[in-house]
Amino acid sequence: MFKAIVIEKDDAGYRAGVKQVDESALPPGEVTVRVDYSTVNYKDGLAITGKGPIVRKFPLHAGIDFAGVVEASDDARYKAGDRVVLTGWGVGETHSGGLAQKARVKADWLVPLPVGLTTKQAMAIGTAGFTAMLCVLALERHGIKPESGDILVTGANGGVGSVAIAILAKLGYRVVASTGRLGEAEHLKGLGAADVIGRDELSAPGKPLAKERWAGVVDSVGSHTLANACAGTRYGGAVAACGLAQGMDFPGSVAPFILRGITLYGIESVMVPLPLRRNAWERLARDLDQGKLAAFTREIGLADALQAGQDILAGRIRGRVVVNVNA
Ligand code: NDP
Repeated sequence: MFKAIVIEKDDAGYRAGVKQVDESALPPGEVTVRVDYSTVNYKDGLAITGKGPIVRKFPLHAGIDFAGVVEASDDARYKAGDRVVLTGWGVGETHSGGLAQKARVKADWLVPLPVGLTTKQAMAIGTAGFTAMLCVLALERHGIKPESGDILVTGANGGVGSVAIAILAKLGYRVVASTGRLGEAEHLKGLGAADVIGRDELSAPGKPLAKERWAGVVDSVGSHTLANACAGTRYGGAVAACGLAQGMDFPGSVAPFILRGITLYGIESVMVPLPLRRNAWERLARDLDQGKLAAFTREIGLADALQAGQDILAGRIRGRVVVNVNA
């Protein structure tokens, strides 16, 4: 038996709670993992509260990501004792996930934990930090270098935003952080932001073209913020869009694309092919200051994740929360 946050939906309604479950409740998969840590993502908040249709199979263990140690493996690539990390692939949505002391998954979904990262650090990074790295890799592939100019990071106090700032700053980029919580400006500067602007500069309807400010953008906010970020991107620059914290709409114009030749990259973290996944995790081990990551990470126990799920939806969480599933 082991503990898990179980999501149930039946005649009694939708509910999430910590339960003791039997190993026979685990889904099929080649690798069984003893989970050390999971985290609380926006999607986990939706799954725990039932406010979004994230979980599509019941009962299911919540948690879209985890890091831990292989307990048993039927796949030659993994053996007992290997440290692994998992994000995405529908885990925590249609396949039981990481807010549990054990998980069983396909070997193809796992990434060996890079040397230098602990399982706790991997989940301090989590899906949010992994997505931030995918955004940075997209800007790099576009050819944007530190000398190209300022990089705008929106949703700066969120999981994606915080990690993006820390990575970009370590790589030598000049980062401008956009936030609705200006009271956290010093914290954002501590992460490496050179400048902090209020989110309202970008969140209202704007013009098709604005002053050319950004060589690149990491946007986790969407809606008018994304449209204004595109409008303010310099000639030939690029925007990496990964989120919808403000909204799913994209009320922009083609002007920045056809008059300034900017590029909009869509960033998706769930189905990313394995080579890019491994590269992103290797880069996270190298290009993220672990001291800074620790400074904006706090640890909670498995049962506390139920409240944290509500808090992340209400915008009450700053930085990263790791869940010690064994506490
Ligand atoms: P968080 O909740 O940690 O952060 C979101 C941040 O966005 C908040 O901290 C806040 O930053 C800002 N924000 C919130 N509401 C608004 C608003 N109404 N207008 C403008 N800004 C707002 O979430 P994550 O960082 O984990 O995820 C960010 C987004 O990225 C989410 O939409 C999530 O679903 C998406 N995502 C997408 C992935 C993918 O595969 N494409 C993977 C992971 C996440 P501040 O207080 O600084 O203003």
